[in-house]
Amino acid sequence: MARVAIVTGGTRGIGEAISLALKEKGITVAANFAGDESKAKSFTEKHGIQSFRWNVADFDACQEGVRRVEDALGPVDIVVNNAGITRDGTLLKMSYEAWKDVIDTNLGGCFNMAKATFSGMKDRGWGRIVNIGSINGQAGQYGQVNYAAAKSGIHGFTKALAQEGARFGITVNAIAPGYIDTDMVAAVPAEVLAKIVAKIPVGRLGQAHEIARGVAFLCSDDAGFVTGSTLSINGGQHMY
Ligand code: NDP
Repeated sequence: MARVAIVTGGTRGIGEAISLALKEKGITVAANFAGDESKAKSFTEKHGIQSFRWNVADFDACQEGVRRVEDALGPVDIVVNNAGITRDGTLLKMSYEAWKDVIDTNLGGCFNMAKATFSGMKDRGWGRIVNIGSINGQAGQYGQVNYAAAKSGIHGFTKALAQEGARFGITVNAIAPGYIDTDMVAAVPAEVLAKIVAKIPVGRLGQAHEIARGVAFLCSDDAGFVTGSTLSINGGQHMY
């Protein structure tokens, strides 16, 4: 029987590419989204992948969302924690809400989704969790104390949970993308983006499918000996 994967934030941007890459591998995919119903509807019509709405920052909504997916598609074997937001600003200008929203969504979402799926994976003796971090969680970024803290937290979360899953056939890994050409990066002012691209050794933004292929590998049987790792896919930027 085909394995079942949930991709949070799986209907657009990097998440959409991940949903497609997993489907290509014969995996049955449930693409979660937060609120963009029209994008989710066109995604489902175009790709034949079911989409499910819930807020990953809401613990109870994640338990309920996973139940809905399992009722529709069967037990969840793979979770890709991709949903993420930015609410940028320097510390002095950042509101408490901007801090909390980003921590609750980007980091809290990983906890909530793992809580909803880990014990089923453990019972069945196989599981894959892939968390999407960021180069800005590795290196920090001006104006992003909330985002950098959440993404940095993801890397610690990954290594700790990998240790808990290792004996049960569950691997837990992270990918730290560099700057990828999606709506999130389109929100960065052009002059700031030009300076960012100038610092990327390969001299361009990444494409969503370049992240998705890394995720597909980490979700495969071939990656059973890879756990607690962070794969940097960033055009070489992590070296500087
Ligand atoms: P986008 O802004 O293009 O898409 C974000 C996705 O996350 C959307 O599908 C959105 O749903 C979903 N989402 C947001 N909040 C929630 C929530 N509370 N509950 C459920 N789903 C939610 O982002 P990207 O594709 O650019 O980024 C994907 C991931 O990659 C993020 O974690 C981001 O931090 C990370 N990343 C991105 C980089 C980049 O350069 N783009 C670089 C490094 C990391 P909806 O469509 O309903 O709004």
